[in-house]
Amino acid sequence: MLDYQSLLLAAALSGICLSVTMLVIWSAMRQSHYFLTASVGLIVIAAHVIAFWRYTNDPQPWIGALLMALLPSGFALVLVAAGQFYGHIDIARRVLAVVAASVLSTTFLMMVGLDGVAFMVEYAFATVLLIWVGWVFWQAREEFPALITLMTVLFAICAMSFALCGLVLLLNGSWVLGKAPDNWAERVNIIVSVACLTALGALPMTMHNLRVAARHRNEALTDPLTGLQNRRALVDSYPDKAFGEELAVVMFDLDHFKSTNDAYGHSAGDEVLKRFADVMRMHLRAGDSAFRLGGEEFALVIARVEGNYVEAAARNILADFAGQDIHTQVGVLRCTVSAGVAFGSMKKATLSEMLTRADRALYQAKRAGRNRVVVDGWITEPTRRPALRA
Ligand code: GH3
Ligand code: MG
Ligand code: MG
Repeated sequence: MLDYQSLLLAAALSGICLSVTMLVIWSAMRQSHYFLTASVGLIVIAAHVIAFWRYTNDPQPWIGALLMALLPSGFALVLVAAGQFYGHIDIARRVLAVVAASVLSTTFLMMVGLDGVAFMVEYAFATVLLIWVGWVFWQAREEFPALITLMTVLFAICAMSFALCGLVLLLNGSWVLGKAPDNWAERVNIIVSVACLTALGALPMTMHNLRVAARHRNEALTDPLTGLQNRRALVDSYPDKAFGEELAVVMFDLDHFKSTNDAYGHSAGDEVLKRFADVMRMHLRAGDSAFRLGGEEFALVIARVEGNYVEAAARNILADFAGQDIHTQVGVLRCTVSAGVAFGSMKKATLSEMLTRADRALYQAKRAGRNRVVVDGWITEPTRRPALRA
């Protein structure tokens, strides 16, 4: 079995290695500040362990005061790093107040000779800070439920092991020790800390990687101009034979958009595309989804088809868009859009069948004069308001 001193050195070494790892990660991703903060926090915790180890051989009050200042400072930095991970920058100010209270009270108690009480206070603050870190993660558990539950449990176990150290001193009435505390709770604490440290270092790295992967995936599925989902997202969302009777697809294509670009310029054309995306968004019900298929073509997947809702929704979008005044440098611009509707079937259609049918209906709408909706071969009246020209 390892003796207490070896366990302390093992904990210090483990903290230093983890700190260096975090530092290297940060140097490759400088915008992820939490890795730098966590790295500094871990070095401070390792310094605490070394100071504690020194104190076990040479129990001078100033070493005691130093080790008691280092522990809450290290945990506070880990807490600030957790706050940075979730964008809670303001947490630093509140943490600083807690650390200041801890350092001042333990230094004072050491200086007046109540080293046992000082250790109890230090352990109490350590417990509070660790529970606080766990709480910061727990509040964000929706992002990665399993990982964060594990993180919170580990922080809670760590916190309890510090609370135990303080409790044992309290129950033994160890107000004055004259040396480093050495009891079963201290050994449990050091073993728990070494075990948790590795996991607590690895888990945020995993969460960071998952978060980056999710961001990239989201970017790959989003159209950067309009913010709508793109064609790839549409294909991913509706696997084979997804279109039963409850779903419909409406395909939209802006009318004479090439002329709009020619007359008003490409950036004005972009404004028109964004405005149409806004109009689509305004008309979305829960469960419906809007996509930019590419160029000036858009699609709406309508869930829970009932009555003539699909046609009415398409007509409302057309009318709303035709009524929009889009201000450009060349003048006020108005534009119209045509739409084709395809309904899902009992046999369950594929996305490609739906798009082909909607496109066919859209083609009919164009041929019939544009600015109208075609639903399964039935052409509706055009919406009002012709486009202006500069
Ligand atoms: P129709 O009424 O028959 O649909 O005619 P149209 O002019 O809209 O159709 P066409 O397919 O000839 O033109 C589509 C135009 O859309 C051509 C292209 O320059 C423009 N376009 C495609 N993507 C973008 C984009 O991201 N921004 C801008 N401003 N224009 C785009
Ligand atoms: Mg087109
Ligand atoms: Mg067009």
